[in-house]
Amino acid sequence: MTQLSINTARLISEINTLATFSDAPAPAVTRILYSGQDQAARVWLRQQILDAGLTIREDGLGNLFARWEGSEPGLPAVGTGSHIDAIPHSGKYDGVVGVLGGLEAIRALKEAGIKTKRSLELVMFTAEEPTRFGIGCLGSRAMAGTLKPADLLAMSDPEGNKLDELRQAAGFKKTLSGVQLAQDYYSSFIELHIEQGPRLERDNLQIGIVTSIAAPATLRVILHGDGGHAGATLMPGRKDALVAASEIVQEVERAAHESGSPDSVATVGLLQVHPGAVNSIPSKVTMEIDIRDTRLASRDGMVDRVIEKIEEVCGRRQIGHDVTILNRDNPCQSGEEIIQTAERVTQRLGYSYKKLVSRAYHDTLFMAQICPTAMIFVPSENGYSHRPEEFTADEEIAQGVEVLALTMAECANL
Ligand SMILES: [Zn+2]
Repeated sequence: MTQLSINTARLISEINTLATFSDAPAPAVTRILYSGQDQAARVWLRQQILDAGLTIREDGLGNLFARWEGSEPGLPAVGTGSHIDAIPHSGKYDGVVGVLGGLEAIRALKEAGIKTKRSLELVMFTAEEPTRFGIGCLGSRAMAGTLKPADLLAMSDPEGNKLDELRQAAGFKKTLSGVQLAQDYYSSFIELHIEQGPRLERDNLQIGIVTSIAAPATLRVILHGDGGHAGATLMPGRKDALVAASEIVQEVERAAHESGSPDSVATVGLLQVHPGAVNSIPSKVTMEIDIRDTRLASRDGMVDRVIEKIEEVCGRRQIGHDVTILNRDNPCQSGEEIIQTAERVTQRLGYSYKKLVSRAYHDTLFMAQICPTAMIFVPSENGYSHRPEEFTADEEIAQGVEVLALTMAECANL
């Protein structure tokens, strides 16, 4: 088998340098889309990519594509990549390992003299985190066409700055209609990422091969009852919005338990009671419900069941209700051929591994709408992520890069 030498010291030093572009003091990292630190990080990243001998293209949102031409450059490319934006006070590995690790994977292939048939392309997705515009995976959603130019033009950050003005001020002036990729742009896309959970570490494994990504549906439900004095209003005829909500909460849990899928989860994570006084009947309740599964049919089955119950409860209790579906993304299954290739590569390298489900979602969820995809996970110490203590050992990152590089190389010769 081809021997690759991953330059772990170079990669780790780059990860450490990128972490210094931050609005929070080390070890915390804060890097918000189109901020000064994000811009400075992009300038630095472009230089590393150019130094590696790759060509750069950027689209109107600032998604960055770094390409190493294959021997048949007209063929759909093999893509890899992730994000470098970081939520406030998070760590230095989430996303970054997939961008700088992807760069190192391509560099290692180049340095080993391996020329593939298909081109290899590294993507740095604009804003995987929802920090600034309230929606996760902004760049990859637009690349997949699930966010259209009109949707992007309507977006503003909490200070009222329009996305369209911010992106142009950041130097991304190409048309938004040019962001969506063609269905045959990539033949496959493989993202390297830290696990952000404890499963690999717990089982003492080096590599995770992601077979599917669960996707959430998020519902906001507002219940309008009738308030009044808790002592003076007798029980007959009460329209207590919280008691109605309590029936709905129970149904959310039942829907997940009884869906028939082991991957079903459903949670009411937010419940606001108005007016919120001990001697006042709750007149209004706002609740937000998160429902996930790796299979669309199971996930949507739970959503439908919960909505039916809301209607039944509110009808019976004469409670007004508004249900808004805040998002409802499709889960994805990884491409069988990529899974098998990654598995073969991992076995040949002698690394311990397991196939697993990603319960958090990533840019790959949206890339799956335009090409076969898979993800490679490396362990997260204690499962920590989105906090400064996020940690993956240097050699574990290098092992992930090695698996990524050889998987890409094999996919690029198909
Ligand atoms: Zn991430």
